[in-house]
Amino acid sequence: MAKQITCRDAGMDCPGQFKVETEDELMQHVQIHAKAAHPDLPVTPEFQRQIKSLIKTV
Ligand SMILES: [Zn+2]
Repeated sequence: MAKQITCRDAGMDCPGQFKVETEDELMQHVQIHAKAAHPDLPVTPEFQRQIKSLIKTV
C-alpha cells in the first residue's frame, strides 16, 4: 500500500504526481513541489486539510 496524490486531483493543470509510503512523507513532497511549481498556492492548515482529503491509498 502507498499514498498517492496528483496535482490534477487538486484541480491543477500540472503533471505533478507523488506516490510514497506514508502520508507524512507525501505532505512533505507536496509542500516542496507546491513551493517550486505553484508559488501562488496558499500553504495554510486549511489547504493542507484539503490536500489530505485528496490522498488516495493505492
Ligand atoms: Zn504541480
